[in-house]
Parts: sequence; structure tokens; C-alpha cells
Amino acid sequence: MTFVKSAKALVDAGLVQDIGTLDVVAERYAIGITPAVLDLIDRADPEDPIARQFVPTEAELLTKPEERADPIGDLSHSPVEGIVHRYPDRVLLKAVHVCPVYCRFCFRREMVGPQGLGTLTGPELDAAMDYIAAHEEIWEVILTGGDPLVLSPRRLAGLMERLAKIEHVKIVRFHTRVPVVEPERIDEAMVEALMSSGKTTYLAVHANHPREFSPAARQAFKKLFDGGVALLSQSVLLRGVNDDVETLAALMRGFVENRIKPYYLHHPDLAPGTSHFRIGIEEGQALVAALRGRISGLCQPTYVLDIPGGHGKTDIGAAKVSGGDGCFTVRDWRGGEHAYPPE
Ligand code: SF4
Repeated sequence: MTFVKSAKALVDAGLVQDIGTLDVVAERYAIGITPAVLDLIDRADPEDPIARQFVPTEAELLTKPEERADPIGDLSHSPVEGIVHRYPDRVLLKAVHVCPVYCRFCFRREMVGPQGLGTLTGPELDAAMDYIAAHEEIWEVILTGGDPLVLSPRRLAGLMERLAKIEHVKIVRFHTRVPVVEPERIDEAMVEALMSSGKTTYLAVHANHPREFSPAARQAFKKLFDGGVALLSQSVLLRGVNDDVETLAALMRGFVENRIKPYYLHHPDLAPGTSHFRIGIEEGQALVAALRGRISGLCQPTYVLDIPGGHGKTDIGAAKVSGGDGCFTVRDWRGGEHAYPPE
């Protein structure tokens, strides 16, 4: 079982021919590729869409002026460490900032990894739980990070036990890449831990290409669904990975075939060193419109932009935004208008 975690290991695994400047990239943005992902990569294809998501490139050293270390404004909406409270009825709980893989387009790339924000300490976790308990308007707690499923079932169950005691929290949602990139972690103990709060439990599976639905991933989805976890999808629209209608259609159908309801298709965020992944909003709208006629209504995701600065998500399907030629006005959930890209 090989886990690739350094520039040298990329060479050893035959993923790149020489290190070049990749050790400079690795100093800034963590590298992580699991055995399950290694198995999916086609080394003979220089444009392999799986490799593109996980194997770093020199392009990451180019930071554009519009890119930001905290593109969706987590820090400005964080009342206590580990909590992001952007909308009235829900919070993010970020207990860990570690992932089994490090996606090259990650919107929290400055926060995750060994050089990132780390794991909440005991007192920080107490303060985060106290915050949730003290705010009766919080109906939903979304565990994200980092990837919450890197926690052991015992530690996850400990978190769930604490949430179980907070009466006004009705929904617990996990956002994770684990069922795809480390499916062996999804065992009976993990499913039990996820369900142990007694709340209605959702899990949003992050996958971006239909080849990510390996037999082991499908088994993991089945264990989760059969164990009572409601499954949603989340994907990022990425140049060179899924920016064509055939791939997107196969991805969305793949979710539905695995009893995962397509939820969000994210426009890529303005994370540093990720401009090579970004497509224009017009291109995204055309792709989403093409999906409409081609595949079942069950398979349709909502195309969303996280408005830079922490103004929240907005639907950017064709009828939902104004502007063009690369410049748009988008409206946040409060009705505020924002230029995109930001001025
Ligand atoms: S799994 Fe999620 S948080 Fe972790 S690197 Fe990938 S996109 Fe970022």
C-alpha cells in the first residue's frame, strides 16, 4: 500500500519524470495520493483526468491577482475556532484540517495539510460545541475540514455523542472524499459512528470524474446507504477533468446509479495557484444547459458559485446571473449584489 506524500514519492511512483520545482510546490501545498487513487491513474495518458486532480504541477506556483488565500471567506465568518457561521440555520464544524488526498484545486488549500490549521484542541472543540449549543437557530451541523472521515470511528462517535445532546440540531451532514479515495475506511464501525448521533444524517460525496466510481467506492456507497446515511453529491467543474458534457453526464448518472442525489456542481473557487483549473461562467452555464436536455431530471445538479468574501453560495445557472463577457453581477442570499470576478 503506497501513499504518495512528497515530490520524491511522485517520481518513485512513476507519476512524474523528475522533481523539477515540485518540491517548491510541496512546501506550500500538501501532496497526498492514496493507493485507491494511484490505482485509478492512467500513467500512459499525459492528460489523465484523475492524475490532473491529485498530481501537482508547476502551474500552482502562479498566483493570479484575483486569487485569495481564503476564497470563500471562512475566517471572516468564524466566531470561534473550528466554526464557520455564514447562514442563520447552519454551521460548519471543522474539527480537522487533514485529508487522505490533497486536491490540487482545493478551495481551502492554504488551511489543510501538515502545514495547515491542524486539529481542534480539546478546549477549542469544547468552545465550538458550546457555540452550537448556545445558538438555538442552528438546525444543521456540517462536518467538513479537511475531511472529517479521517477521524477514527471512536473519535467520530465521540463528536456525535456531543451533538446528540443538542436538541435543536436536527441534521448532521458530512462532506468527504473518503468513500472514493480511501474506500476501505468505510466499514461497519464507521457507518455506526456516522449514524450514532440519532439525528438525520447526510453525507455529501465529493467526486469529479466517473472513473472515480471504482468497485471499492461503489461498495463503500452501498454500505453507507444501507446503513441509513442519506447520500448527496458535490463536484467541482474543472478544466481538463470534467468540462465536457459527456463526462459530466456520466458523472451525474454514476451518482444516481449509486443512490447518491446530485446536489452541488461548484464553479471553481479563486484559490491560489488554481487558474489552470478554472473555466468561465458562460462555459459552465452552457455545459449545465446541455445536461438539462440530455439526462434525467434526477441527475441534475445545481451549478453554484461561492461568492468571494464569504457572501455565501448562489445559483449561477443561466437565468440566475446578469452580465457577460467574463464579468457578472451575482446576488447573495440577502439580496446584496457583487461583481464577479471581484474588482
Ligand atoms: S478533500 Fe476537500 S478539503 Fe481535502 S484537499 Fe480535497 S477539496 Fe480540499
